[in-house]
Amino acid sequence: MTDDTGSVVQPNWRDVLQALPDAAWLVDARTQQIVRANERTLDLLGVEPERLHGVSACLTVATPEDLAYWDDVRAGRYASLSSDTVLVNAAGHLLHVTRSIRPVGPRGAPSHLLVTVRDRSGEQQQQQEREALLSELQATLESTADGILVTDLAGRITAFNRRFAQMWGMPESLLVERNDAAVADWMRRSVVDTEGYERRMAQVREATLMRATERIVLLSGQVFECVTQPQCHQGRPRGRVWSYRDFTALEGASQRISQLSTTDVLTGLYNRRQLGGVIVESIRLARQQGHTLALLVLDLDRFKQINDGLGHEIGDRVLRDTAERLKSCLRQGDQVARIGGDQFALVVQRVDSRGAESAARRVLDAIARPCAVDGLQFTLTCSVGIALFPVDGEDEDTLVRNAETAMQRAKQGGRGGFRFHQPHHDADLRQRMRLDHAMRQALASNRFRLKYQPQVDLATGQVIGAEALIRWRDPELGDVSPGEFIPVAEDSGFIVPIGDWVMSQAARQAARWHQQGLDLPMSVNVSALQFRQADFIDRVARVLRDNKLPGSALELELTESILVHDADEALQRLSQLSQLGVRLAIDDFGIGYSSMSYLKRFPIERLKIDRSFIQGLPHDASDVGIVRAIVQLSHALGMRVVAEGVESEPQRAFLAEAGCHQFQGYLYAPALDAISFEERIRGEPRSRRTVLSLVGR
Ligand code: C2E
Ligand code: MG
Ligand code: MG
Repeated sequence: MTDDTGSVVQPNWRDVLQALPDAAWLVDARTQQIVRANERTLDLLGVEPERLHGVSACLTVATPEDLAYWDDVRAGRYASLSSDTVLVNAAGHLLHVTRSIRPVGPRGAPSHLLVTVRDRSGEQQQQQEREALLSELQATLESTADGILVTDLAGRITAFNRRFAQMWGMPESLLVERNDAAVADWMRRSVVDTEGYERRMAQVREATLMRATERIVLLSGQVFECVTQPQCHQGRPRGRVWSYRDFTALEGASQRISQLSTTDVLTGLYNRRQLGGVIVESIRLARQQGHTLALLVLDLDRFKQINDGLGHEIGDRVLRDTAERLKSCLRQGDQVARIGGDQFALVVQRVDSRGAESAARRVLDAIARPCAVDGLQFTLTCSVGIALFPVDGEDEDTLVRNAETAMQRAKQGGRGGFRFHQPHHDADLRQRMRLDHAMRQALASNRFRLKYQPQVDLATGQVIGAEALIRWRDPELGDVSPGEFIPVAEDSGFIVPIGDWVMSQAARQAARWHQQGLDLPMSVNVSALQFRQADFIDRVARVLRDNKLPGSALELELTESILVHDADEALQRLSQLSQLGVRLAIDDFGIGYSSMSYLKRFPIERLKIDRSFIQGLPHDASDVGIVRAIVQLSHALGMRVVAEGVESEPQRAFLAEAGCHQFQGYLYAPALDAISFEERIRGEPRSRRTVLSLVGR
């Protein structure tokens, strides 16, 4: 540097110090005292530069390293020093700094030492922040449920988390060793579709900016969703992040949901929704190929009583068992579904009405096979409704509706049977309402009558009792059978007044016969609803009292459902009736649930074998088996057993041989009016007549 005159100008120390970018001071080598400091010392130390003059150098930065350095200087050893260290400023704050000391002047004999100090506190803080960020990132990476892998543009692994290794079932050592080729190979070999996987990897390598999401299925059965995106720095791709999410559970769940929405959980059969699809598809095929098909809707009879009486667990088992039985009725192409609580449906392909009927019979047979749950033996029946495509409906809705109404009619017709759809049965409800109305009028106008069916002792041939059966001839409707109107009366509750009427009429007739010396117990049918009336026992007692009858002159025919429904309550009532001397019988035995334990608990005197088991005698093997079993059961329990609906001599002979005690049926007589009944008995040869004489009449 030169001045105006051209001579060289020596810069002075002050200017040089001021020009330095860092805080700096000059120390006298001899005294180790600061001789000059620049303005920046004020920023760094918070001390005016002038106030440093004469201060010992070792006081500004007083670490052991610095103290040792100045000791060396004092001893004539002049070296350079540069290191990161700390100092405390005037305000008492600790500062991270880089401090350098260099001798100035002739080598080995410097006149001064220059100390420069750069404040690193900002840098230090940034560094700490960076480290914190990094450890946060690492923790985040490790805490995510996704497996993460980061590679550079060449595909080399730069980062990963443990979850990644776990998900791929990869030994972590592969990753720790950074054996990239082995990792890639491991992944390739783990997937089901190796080729597809390799193809996509190649595509991704080509397109550094590509983002993609795909589903990967592993040989282990796991399903991953893989999301990959470029990792960019300052807008330029530097690598790629791969994240893998385990979708196995979700995939399983979604499959399960779609399964649940189409299948019935309890039985595994199709549900109502799926049935709709099956019918639609079957109709399409039937149209295409010009054939017919049938829809069978079936409902278990009295299932509610099983559920209520024996508990839902047993109810569920019965339903599962029913599903299995129905499956055994299917031919190829047929389908079965559970469409409601105890309702099932069968789609039977390529059948006309005859084929549908035989399918219905197969179903009835399969359901009626005795079942055993928890040591409890019982027999179920079901009612089946049939609708045919195309005659009974050309679309799903109509077919289902018509099969359901037909099933309802099968129920009303006494259950345990099947019915075809009959056009115009939509009028069913109206019909029932009309019947209900007519019934009420019939009772008010005294149009009901009782008829009496003789009960005959199989061994002696003597009439030993009578069953009162209601009859109704309506001026408009004509003869209406109890099988038709009793269920309507049971539904509407009108069975209670009807039952009262029957009971008092029957008792009156029994009393009349009693007075004539004809001591025949009178059997009266009692509906469940009637039995459950709070004052039922009182009514029975009153009827006996009013007619001056002993309890033993009356027998109540109860259905098994009465026993099953609230068994404790039933037991209490039956005991009270039994105390009145009233006899108790179980009607239609065999079609409900007959459990030894129930029978043993209740004071039952007679079992009446349902007519449906008598029909096939003496040839039908299953009827033979059932009747023999019921007879044996009644013997074991000390009960009498009556066969209902005996129409032929071979049936009677079989029953007598089997040990059955009594029978009722057209073979001897249908239900007769009181006068015909008496005449019939009077007409009998003496030996077969009732022991008690008929006086007058
Ligand atoms: P149930 O109590 O089992 O009565 C026996 C039914 O079988 C009667 O039908 C009877 O007429 C019929 N029957 C008797 N012998 C033969 C036979 O040899 N062959 C055939 N095919 N049938 C025979 P009914 O009178 O039509 O009664 C049907 C059902 O209606 C009865 O079945 C009973 O459950 C109910 N019922 C009848 N009267 C009353 C009543 O006063 N109160 C209540 N709650 N129900 C009644
Ligand atoms: Mg009866
Ligand atoms: Mg019966």
